[in-house]
Amino acid sequence: MGALQREDIERKDRIVSRNPATGEVLGDVPDQSAAEVKQAVARAREAQRSWGALPVKERCTRVGRFRDQVVRRAPELCELIAREGGKTRAEALSMEVMLIADLATYFIKRAPKILAPETIPLHLLKNRGSYVHYVPRGVVGIIAPWNFPFSIPVGEAVMALLAGNGVVVKPSDVTPLIALKAKELYDAAGLPPDLFQVVTGRGPAGAALIDAGIDYCIFTGSTTTGKKVAAACGERLIPCTLELGGKAPAIVCADADVDRTARALVWGAFANQGQVCVSVERVYAHQAVHDELVEKIVALTGKLRQGDPSQAETLDTGAMTWDRQVEIVEERIKSALDAGARLRAGGQRRGQGLQFQPTVISECRQDMDVMRKEIFGPVMPIMKVRDEEEAVALANDSQLGLAAYVFTDDKQKGRRLAERIEAGTVMVNDVLITYGAPETPWGGVKQSGIGRTHSDSGLKDLCQTRHVNYDRLALKRELWWYPYSDKLYQQTLKLMKWIFR
Ligand code: NDP
Repeated sequence: MGALQREDIERKDRIVSRNPATGEVLGDVPDQSAAEVKQAVARAREAQRSWGALPVKERCTRVGRFRDQVVRRAPELCELIAREGGKTRAEALSMEVMLIADLATYFIKRAPKILAPETIPLHLLKNRGSYVHYVPRGVVGIIAPWNFPFSIPVGEAVMALLAGNGVVVKPSDVTPLIALKAKELYDAAGLPPDLFQVVTGRGPAGAALIDAGIDYCIFTGSTTTGKKVAAACGERLIPCTLELGGKAPAIVCADADVDRTARALVWGAFANQGQVCVSVERVYAHQAVHDELVEKIVALTGKLRQGDPSQAETLDTGAMTWDRQVEIVEERIKSALDAGARLRAGGQRRGQGLQFQPTVISECRQDMDVMRKEIFGPVMPIMKVRDEEEAVALANDSQLGLAAYVFTDDKQKGRRLAERIEAGTVMVNDVLITYGAPETPWGGVKQSGIGRTHSDSGLKDLCQTRHVNYDRLALKRELWWYPYSDKLYQQTLKLMKWIFR
């Protein structure tokens, strides 16, 4: 069939990259050894010494040159992202390239302020002063998945560089060429070559990166691999951010605008072929709007234009990225239908390569795999619920908690429900897009991850927070120093009673 097969990427010392829509070979990269990964980290460490010593403002100016390359060479980047990743050019531009141009611009402007030393007013020790300052961690290892092969590793890398770190990226073996293209643009921007590196390889190369002496690890990927990464980081006491899987629920209230909701859900479930960690993966629709909503969703889904994204510019949806993921999607659909769910749209592979039809399944139940396990493909399972209480309970009945969505015409109710849902981000009347708002925190609760990326605190996490405490009034001695005495004890007791009266 010519599509990407697992054997192709499992050749011994080379990794072959293919266009998932056609099977066309795009190139191959080395499967780098642990020793090579270690050398890359050592070179990054060396380059980081002078980079970390630069004022934040100067780092911002230089990273700005990389941002300029991304903007200037956007068409070339979109072309490769569509070819290697299978997404449409519209998505390559908006969800990957433009997202990075915006994230870089945002943090370039804000980093000097975010990373400036901060005074801590002391409530009791008035004779002393305190402040925190932010020191680069050293070398940040970034282990990335294949679904956003440009915006995930490059966004993390931009933030890590601005924070003064060296960076070594290990992209997924499914999409290595895009990460190497990012490196090419970085080099063209004239930044220190060893400061930002890409090591290509399979899972063991990711494990080798954690073992190569990095100072911080940002891992984005499945919960299963995330647990291994957490254990490896724990063993070495390396701090890490884990951005893991999701199973985003969408609650549709009785008062929701059904037209808007249907459009939002169709986009939220099928954008990037459903291979988004915050894709709409289960819909809980109030019985009052359920039937109308399903009809509208099915009609909109039927109008989506699908094809090979590298050949056509006006497609809504392209190909899935990885052959194994298509098999998982097929398994989820089959088990749902076997258990009594109803196929309303799609359900099949399409054309050549890894194109899979956008699929809508209704009459789902909470005990079905399709409602419980991550799908990570173009499938929207829908379940009818009695009321909003039932919907919230079912939304929270999951080990995962990355994102969730609430649709209602009542803004107050929307926020009230949002606050009750166990997820890192809950959006009211919209889906997906907060990854593109770099000022907001991104990350999950429960088994969807640990830590947050983006936002002021995400940037600060890429630094050591160091505290300096200094004297404002130079006294001969402090009250609590030796020698202790009964008098001191009595005075302290009185003082305590007065302070905490
Ligand atoms: P994987 O967990 O399979 O892989 C992620 C990365 O880890 C890849 O680069 C992989 O290499 C590497 N890796 C594999 N084994 C190890 C190991 N033992 N030690 C270190 N690194 C290792 O995830 P996928 O690439 O399949 O990505 C899909 C998953 O990512 C989904 O669950 C999705 O929800 C999640 N995700 C989460 C996001 C978030 O923000 N929370 C965003 C995007 C995706 P290789 O691929 O070469 O084997």
